[in-house]
Amino acid sequence: MTSTFLGMPATAPRGVGHLRGDEPFPAAARRSLADPQLRRNLRHATTTIRAKSAAVIAEAPDWQQLRDAGAAIKADVMSRLPELLEQLEAAVTRAGGTVHWAADAVEANRIVTELVAATGSDRAIKVKSMATQEIGLNEALQAAGISPVETDLAELIVQLGDDRPSHILVPAIHRNRAEIREIFLREMPGVDPALTDDPAALAAAARSYLRQTFLDTPVAVSGANFAVAETGTLAVVESEGNGRMCLTLPETLITVMGIEKVVPTWLDLEVFLQLLPRASTGERMNPYTSMWTGVTRGDGPQQVHLVLLDNGRSAVLADEVGRQALHCIRCSACLNVCPVYERAGGHAYGSVYPGPIGAVLSPQLTGVEDNASLPYASSLCGACFDACPVKINIPELLVHLRAAHVAAQRRPTAESIAMAAAAYTMDHPALYAAAQRAARLTRLAGRRGRGLPPPLSGWAIGRDLPQPPPQTFRDWWAER
Ligand code: SF4
Repeated sequence: MTSTFLGMPATAPRGVGHLRGDEPFPAAARRSLADPQLRRNLRHATTTIRAKSAAVIAEAPDWQQLRDAGAAIKADVMSRLPELLEQLEAAVTRAGGTVHWAADAVEANRIVTELVAATGSDRAIKVKSMATQEIGLNEALQAAGISPVETDLAELIVQLGDDRPSHILVPAIHRNRAEIREIFLREMPGVDPALTDDPAALAAAARSYLRQTFLDTPVAVSGANFAVAETGTLAVVESEGNGRMCLTLPETLITVMGIEKVVPTWLDLEVFLQLLPRASTGERMNPYTSMWTGVTRGDGPQQVHLVLLDNGRSAVLADEVGRQALHCIRCSACLNVCPVYERAGGHAYGSVYPGPIGAVLSPQLTGVEDNASLPYASSLCGACFDACPVKINIPELLVHLRAAHVAAQRRPTAESIAMAAAAYTMDHPALYAAAQRAARLTRLAGRRGRGLPPPLSGWAIGRDLPQPPPQTFRDWWAER
């Protein structure tokens, strides 16, 4: 395997964007766990999505072959990413679009803000996009006097509620419909005071609030699920039709896309368009799949920009084990099956990328020391690996990052000292035999280890101390 990277790999800069939380995972998770309403909302939502997804996956007899194909295409993309990105740039440019390269969040925010300002508009409509959340684009636009308007229903709920998204696919998964009604009544201009919490009524309220905004705003910002290198075609899949409005009505369309989203050909796209809806929303196909190739005169946006975002991705790519995380198609299946996510919720992860994929992607984008608790936010049960439509071995990555974190520690930890002592002892037979004899003394500590002196008594709070056998194998052997 080659060790390809796009230049000098650098991690995502501090002080901009939403890849780092304010506190470590255990502290944030403890707060979520104390909120019974949040846990009820999460359990209900993840159970429903899991069941829907399992039903449609069961209908696809070639699901495992599709997963294999998806994994193989992504591995191929990563092995020749620079070449594919240059091919994509040439194709988009040929089709009348403009390509911008952004090394990090600061550069991407500057490029997009300048492009929006150049249209003369003080407002930009937005399609749901993880990349723009990652870089903190809304804050950058607001600082420049431009109002970003989220048009995805769940993103709108998050924006009006001055909240943070907590799920890749369903950003307001932590809210139930009564809470959403309250947010709309409080924050949505012109809303009917008699609004009920019926989902159809809530959706209708959002629709009428957004309709005029779609028609009046000359510039939109989107992400992209995929980009086809051979033709320069960009693709957005969504369920509400708000994306289609943003991608077709405004004069100017700016797309911010992580560099890993490129696929070589249309044939490759076919694989992902089968995998993504079944794994994410539990649908056979997406209600809206929008694709555009540069500019079509007299039809749709006449200024088309593509911002290719690195922001730490080259650093991930440079790690031959870690680069698997770049295969992610953001379906969120791993979140919906994760017992840790289901209980702790998305905010506990700090980053915009929550759940199992967040636990392996965020620490790599930022450098593991800035998200050091996330690789430990897992029981390593492997449910995420089984659910992932592109077969990302998330448990392997978690262990890889834990090792990287331990290696990055300058001071030896209690664990590393214990492991070094154990390795030395096992390497010396006489010492090992003496240690086994000494181990019998731990019987004095009682079956649960409560009689151990500090700090070992702390270790025994959450674990039972295994009882050493009355006779070791060596003793048994010597007797015979
Ligand atoms: S890691 Fe796999 S399961 Fe999780 S969001 Fe990405 S593609 Fe989906």
